Amino acid sequence: MFLIYNDIIIYLLRLFMSKKSAITFYGIWPEMKEYVEKKMKKFSCEILSEKLLPENVQPDTEILASFVESPINKAVLDKMINLKLIATLSTGYDHIDLKECKKRGIIVENVPTYGENTVAEQSMALLLGLTRKLFRSVKRVKEGRYDFHGLRGVDLAGKTVGIIGTGHIGAHFIKMISGFDVKIIAYDKFKNKDLIKKYGIKYLPLNSLLKKSDIISLHTPLLPSTFHLINKTNIKLTKPGAFLINTARGALIETEAIVWALQNEHLAGVGLDVLEDENLIQNFERVIGNDQKQIKTTLLNEMIINHPNAIVTPHNAFNSTEALQRIIDVTIDNIQKFGAGKIQNEVKILK
Ligand code: NAD
Repeated sequence: MFLIYNDIIIYLLRLFMSKKSAITFYGIWPEMKEYVEKKMKKFSCEILSEKLLPENVQPDTEILASFVESPINKAVLDKMINLKLIATLSTGYDHIDLKECKKRGIIVENVPTYGENTVAEQSMALLLGLTRKLFRSVKRVKEGRYDFHGLRGVDLAGKTVGIIGTGHIGAHFIKMISGFDVKIIAYDKFKNKDLIKKYGIKYLPLNSLLKKSDIISLHTPLLPSTFHLINKTNIKLTKPGAFLINTARGALIETEAIVWALQNEHLAGVGLDVLEDENLIQNFERVIGNDQKQIKTTLLNEMIINHPNAIVTPHNAFNSTEALQRIIDVTIDNIQKFGAGKIQNEVKILK
């Protein structure tokens, strides 16, 4: 029964595809290529290792699969006139111009829940790395100095942890950190009653959360309503000596606010897996021609990266073996179901 259903899907998808190379995967690393090829072997499909850029667009593409590293903006869409589906290999979709897609009738689908534990684990790693001065400690020992002086950390037990965004990843982070004997407060547009019941968390307005938290961890999508949720003004409400963790999206925090907090030793440390305008970091030739704001942000990002109280990872939270498998499997399923006329993980335009 399952085989027949699968064959029908494949038949419909083939009918649906009118040209060669109708499906293009971008940014597929060599170790993943064989697996994707095998799963897609019955389709006309191109699997590329390079990330999607306006310069390497395959114009015949009808179904596009790519990672968040590739902004899908008007310049890219203008070159893909046959595009019907964007299957992003991610949960977040702020790298895609959804309004332009809607205008052109292009469907966008994502992978909504591959990384609940994966991303929350990275948040935890950044947090413990900061509170126990892990990276400085390891570096010192590797440099031949086996000496703990100057490396005193702080306990998590007894602290107040403020979670901004209690969706899939935020909820998982709450589950993990509740094992550390902390008090948990939260801010979200919607209250999750299960989390209140299970972990005794208390929802507060954003400013109250910022004032009360010893640790703040962000887990909301980047939307117009969450852009610079933490900014130059409200960062001053945070507790002196607090820690700030962000594995969600860089532009949730105004970059200048982070630099201010580090330079004035207002925050004890920041752990970031994402930075505002991160696609410009170490791509200085791309900065040329960009607006003043992006050039400034790129310079400020360098200051953060080089600050001793900052730990920055290169948007790597999604990157575990198990999560990648889930990303690939769900993306291929999104594509195959789309071919059979079913849209299962459509992204909606949110404010
Ligand atoms: P989710 O949709 O399950 O949860 C998001 C939560 O944010 C929801 O509870 C929602 O109500 C809340 N929210 C939305 N707008 C809000 C607002 N204006 N004010 C307050 N709360 C608001 O999403 P998720 O699966 O938990 O993922 C969260 C984000 O993590 C993703 O959107 C993505 O940007 C990011 N992410 C990062 C990585 C990485 O590799 N660094 C990987 C996966 C996801």
